[in-house]
Amino acid sequence: MLVLDDVSRRFNNKAAVSGVSLSIAGGSFVGVIGRSGAGKSTLLRMINRLVDPTSGSIRFDDVDVTRLDGRALRDWRARCAMIFQQFNLVGRLDVLTNVLMGRLNKVPTARSLLRLWSEEDRAIALSALEQFDIAGLAAQRADSLSGGQQQRVAIARALVQEPDAILADEPIASLDPRNTKVVMDALLRINRHYGITVICNLHSLDLARTYCDRLIGMSAGSVVFDGAPEMLTEDV
Ligand code: ADP
Ligand code: ADP
Repeated sequence: MLVLDDVSRRFNNKAAVSGVSLSIAGGSFVGVIGRSGAGKSTLLRMINRLVDPTSGSIRFDDVDVTRLDGRALRDWRARCAMIFQQFNLVGRLDVLTNVLMGRLNKVPTARSLLRLWSEEDRAIALSALEQFDIAGLAAQRADSLSGGQQQRVAIARALVQEPDAILADEPIASLDPRNTKVVMDALLRINRHYGITVICNLHSLDLARTYCDRLIGMSAGSVVFDGAPEMLTEDV
């Protein structure tokens, strides 16, 4: 269970997120919706600690997320993998190596520093690519792939981290409708097959309604809706 208690973040004395309290049960597929600037991205980044809250607390089971540093913070980040709108792959490296990056926290430090991957690591990475029908692209440079393919590589990289949660920040914002479906289906598969919690920022209410078990609507930094998709009757 992920619990946010009265979490706020200010930038230049202006509130990006203010007084958000939420509990998110393990295994759910949560959509965070709202206009641009509503605070969705800041909310997600605070969970992963890419952004520190100005006040409030974030706890995950027995972990006080807001107090982590060093190795414990790196471990936490591996447990809640981020997916970004712009994929954030290393373009000049091949696809398999990009996925292997997700294993860095899973192997001894000396091996990870030298990028000495075992056959088992490679098999795990390849199997993750297979699940999203892109194993055939393993040897290609990441920057030669289409957007939908790159986002599936990013999801495979997240999966091999064996995370508790995947935090996806507008993962389909730069994709066409066909790739949008492929990528959302990949996130749904991860959620249903492995029970990994997905928290996904989305612009599209239609998509949110189609994929999510629960919607959190944000406006001007505050939660203005929280419930099942069918409860949402007005625009947020
Ligand atoms: P959303 O993801 O819903 O579009 P964001 O969380 O990106 O919203 O932004 C919420 C508010 O916080 C906006 O007013 C945005 O300009 C501001 N903001 C976000 N990140 C920063 C930052 N690093 N520096 C300054 N202001 C920021
Ligand atoms: P399947 O049974 O669907 O073929 P596998 O169990 O063979 O899947 O695992 C395939 C990939 O998924 C591997 O990369 C593995 O690391 C990853 N994986 C397996 N179990 C989990 C889990 N509980 N959480 C995250 N990733 C997992």
